[in-house]
Amino acid sequence: MISPQAIQGIGMTSQRTRDRLVEQLQTRGIRNEAVLKVISKVPRHLFVDEALAHRAYENTALPIGHGQTISQPYIVARMTELLLAGERPLDKVLEVGTGSGYQAAVLGAFSTRLYTVERIEPLYRQARKLLRDLGYRNIQASLSDGTWGLPAQAPFDGILVTAAPQDIPAALLEQLAEGARLVIPVGTPQELRVVTALKDGHFRHETIEPVQFVPLLSDPIIHKTTNRSI
Ligand code: SAH
Repeated sequence: MISPQAIQGIGMTSQRTRDRLVEQLQTRGIRNEAVLKVISKVPRHLFVDEALAHRAYENTALPIGHGQTISQPYIVARMTELLLAGERPLDKVLEVGTGSGYQAAVLGAFSTRLYTVERIEPLYRQARKLLRDLGYRNIQASLSDGTWGLPAQAPFDGILVTAAPQDIPAALLEQLAEGARLVIPVGTPQELRVVTALKDGHFRHETIEPVQFVPLLSDPIIHKTTNRSI
């Protein structure tokens, strides 16, 4: 179990340090107060290696092993804000790319049920355990290739992807409920895009800003044989 003191943090992981991060995010244009509040509460220092905990409240991406990174707090806030700006209440939401589980913890605060999928087994296991230990009971993690979405739980009121494909996977578009949004980094150079599902299979695409994510990799074997859930 994780002690309340460990969650609360001290010094470079204390509330004061987190509040400074929130001020930086405000300066960079994050306006959604509820998102800022959640960012100030979620203990990002527990989602990174202990040796990097003192840097957890800097506005930077950090390595989480296996060549992957925990996203920069600014981009976590921005993507969450963009998903929340959609017209549908976020009852059922999908995140592709669990990684450390940090974005899931933030997004979980705004979703009735959040499904998150990861293709690297050790990352999936570690994030699942941490999210459980921290008591995020509405988050369900699976070892799965998110290129295929999560057909068993579709349609979703929102989908957030934290790894970048060259083109938007068709399955993700198909699994959006009418009026739902997909927030996804895409292309070369990468840009953050918001896609809204309109009536009759039409979509509206909006380009937000340049971004830098690890690539979305596809492996159909994992999808077919070892899809598991907590
Ligand atoms: N949301 C994460 C960011 C992790 S980086 C966080 O807050 O820490 C992106 C993650 O996407 C990596 O862990 C990578 O393994 C994962 N990923 C890449 N391609 C994937 C795919 N096809 N399906 C599921 N996860 C994928």
